[in-house]
Amino acid sequence: MAFEAYDPQRIEKKWQACWEREKTNEPDLARAPNPFYTLMMFPYPSAEGLHVGNVYAFTGADLQGRYHRLLGHDVFEPIGFDAFGIHSENYALRINTHPSKLIPRNVANFRRQLRMMGLMLDWSHEVLTTDPGYYKWTQWIFLQLYKHDLAYRRQAPVNWCPQCHTVIANEQVIAGMCERHPDTPVERRNLEQWFFRITAYAQRLLDNLEWIDWSAVTKTAQRNWIGRSEGADIDFALEGRADKLRVYTTRPDTLFGATYMVIAPEHPLVMELTAPEKRAEVAAYVAAARRMRDVERIDEAREKSGVALGARAINPVTGLPIPIWVSDYVLIEYGTGAIMAVPAHDERDYAFATKFALPIIPVIAPEDGPAPAGEAYPGEGHMVNSGPYDGLPSRECLKRITADLESRGVAKARVQYRLRDWCISRQRYWGPPIPMIYCERCGIVPVPENELPVLLPELEDFRPDSPGGKPLEREKSFHETTCPQCGGPAHRDGDVSDNFLDSAWYFLRYPSAGNARQPWDPQLTHKWLPVDMYVGGNEHAVLHLMYTRFLCMAFKDMGLIEFEEPFKKFRAHGLLIKEGAKMSKTHGNVINPDEYVERYGADTLRMYLLFLGPYTEGGDFRDSGIVGLRRFLERAHRLYMDVLGGGGNSREEVPRRGELARPNAVKLHQTIRKVGDDLRAFGYNTAIAALMELQNDLRAAPALDDFALDSFAILLAPFAPHEAEELWEMLGHEGSVFAARWPAFDPALTIEDQVEIAVQVMGKLRGTVLAARDAGEGEVRAAALANESVARHLEGKHVVKVIHVPNRLVNFVVKP
Ligand SMILES: [Zn+2]
Ligand SMILES: [Zn+2]
Repeated sequence: MAFEAYDPQRIEKKWQACWEREKTNEPDLARAPNPFYTLMMFPYPSAEGLHVGNVYAFTGADLQGRYHRLLGHDVFEPIGFDAFGIHSENYALRINTHPSKLIPRNVANFRRQLRMMGLMLDWSHEVLTTDPGYYKWTQWIFLQLYKHDLAYRRQAPVNWCPQCHTVIANEQVIAGMCERHPDTPVERRNLEQWFFRITAYAQRLLDNLEWIDWSAVTKTAQRNWIGRSEGADIDFALEGRADKLRVYTTRPDTLFGATYMVIAPEHPLVMELTAPEKRAEVAAYVAAARRMRDVERIDEAREKSGVALGARAINPVTGLPIPIWVSDYVLIEYGTGAIMAVPAHDERDYAFATKFALPIIPVIAPEDGPAPAGEAYPGEGHMVNSGPYDGLPSRECLKRITADLESRGVAKARVQYRLRDWCISRQRYWGPPIPMIYCERCGIVPVPENELPVLLPELEDFRPDSPGGKPLEREKSFHETTCPQCGGPAHRDGDVSDNFLDSAWYFLRYPSAGNARQPWDPQLTHKWLPVDMYVGGNEHAVLHLMYTRFLCMAFKDMGLIEFEEPFKKFRAHGLLIKEGAKMSKTHGNVINPDEYVERYGADTLRMYLLFLGPYTEGGDFRDSGIVGLRRFLERAHRLYMDVLGGGGNSREEVPRRGELARPNAVKLHQTIRKVGDDLRAFGYNTAIAALMELQNDLRAAPALDDFALDSFAILLAPFAPHEAEELWEMLGHEGSVFAARWPAFDPALTIEDQVEIAVQVMGKLRGTVLAARDAGEGEVRAAALANESVARHLEGKHVVKVIHVPNRLVNFVVKP
């Protein structure tokens, strides 16, 4: 039989067409007996096309899907497109094309590229967030959260350009100025916006991190983002006033060192507490602070600024009056918007006190010598300058001082989280309209569920910064409506929802894609969810992954689903760089996968990307390396041609078909074990190295049997699916290699190597045995006792002691 030489162009197109024709990658979701749901992160279909970083992420996820399929699972590996949002909208604005025209073009290109990469995708369940059949349910989710008091409306600050007369995004604020009006400082304005009450789940989001099987780096990022802290609210009396100033602190043990207080510029008491002669100065300071973004305000490196209000509070433990300042390094959103400043033990307070010559009183002394001079000491130690607490360990005083103050009614222990509620409103165009109506008589009225979707109108001018406010409010036919309750005049919400909401539930939709009656079918959801394996970038650790978890918990509490954690397993992949540099458009070093597939084939690119380094750590893409993987695949192909009789012109001596010699069998079984172990541990690079070694070994073998030939093709299949199919066909098998089963290894053949061990009885050599290198005493002893000569010398005797020298000898000490 004649076979054709390795030609990825031919082979890859052939098998992609076959998979599509045979629906190889479309499991019967209703009937599949052994479901395994593998998920890759929702791509945003950019105009540039698939980034090699996407290819890297997707291939790594695809390997998991393909491997589990070979283990006998029915694998569902869906894909879709996250096409709403500010990225798409900004790009559409830049090239002056309507996003509704742009998106289908980008999606078509992505589909082509994803098919080209040979991913095991089930295209019959594609999901597109901009499809009204999808965002109808995004809006429905909003209504469910509203119904359960998990969606609420409140004033929240946004960036406002007084020249544009509109809200602008954070990205459009350049050094405090409007991107379009570089001379115009951006203001912070309060607008009514929608929030999801994710903070109601803070402790649960934290607790479940104890048991979900996720990458450690991702869990750490989530823990930090949730930011649980234990502390106390403490009330400071105000000089000459009846009310009090409340602060939240995690360090009640430092209370004796509180020498001044600071309140945020947005604090409601700012102007009230300000002495008349300071009002102008404070008002100007507050106005300037409003123009700054939070990230700038809390920047540690920035020089501290502030104004003393001319008012004083009373330190509740010392009874001494301390001055109150306003400063932008305190944020209104955190704690109570006011702090007690302890410059001796807090870096920022120290910098502030130094600049304004405020007293710095140490109240905790390190156990191992004096505190370092010229800086704050944030650590633990024993109490000093703290009255009755002097000499006690500071750790003990954390609780004790709180308890003492609680008994006086001026403090209360409290757990606080850094996590904030999720702001959903976006004053933009390209998203699902928020399904809420405002009636003059009835107030807030949700759109009735049977009227969903609220269609996004096709707007000629969708610019966020056209005069006249938000894009959807400028469109009268959309904005003006009638109240579903009283029929009177009303208007729709002019905002769209956050893009992160679209992608916070897409994995629930995939099995039920296209279902017009329900967002997710209960039976399919029961069968397929939660997701078995999720692979993606750690840049999504805190927002996307937190939101998905929150929604699942909320849905479970509403009785809509049966689980509260969406992903049984999540693994974060590493970062791919190019020739030592970060890939970016500005560096001009972005890799277009098309070029490499055209030149080397998709199987080569897949293997090369995964060979670059440990998958969870990333790798450095260098053009010079890819050819090695191409050669590996060529040689694999030629080996099969030669052995199966179609090669003809190979100059090397080739193995015949026949029984596999023991050393080759050992190599084969060791490799089967290793590749399986590595795949489960995401050690793709070491698995590929093992396949390379195995190929060399098989090529040099005197003979290859069917098991060897079948096994190598199957081991290769997750990495290079097209070529594996081709080899499988060359072997004469019917159907796809993915209908085969992962080969089982014989444990006896996987023993690394064996060593000869001397067996003594009372110090005299009585025989030798073979045992695995580094075998334990039990194993060696058992082997020795099975030796005839040794057994004879032990007959009728009582073993009192066994001396085992690993890999060398075992000596039996006996008594008659
Ligand atoms: Zn502007
Ligand atoms: Zn009404």
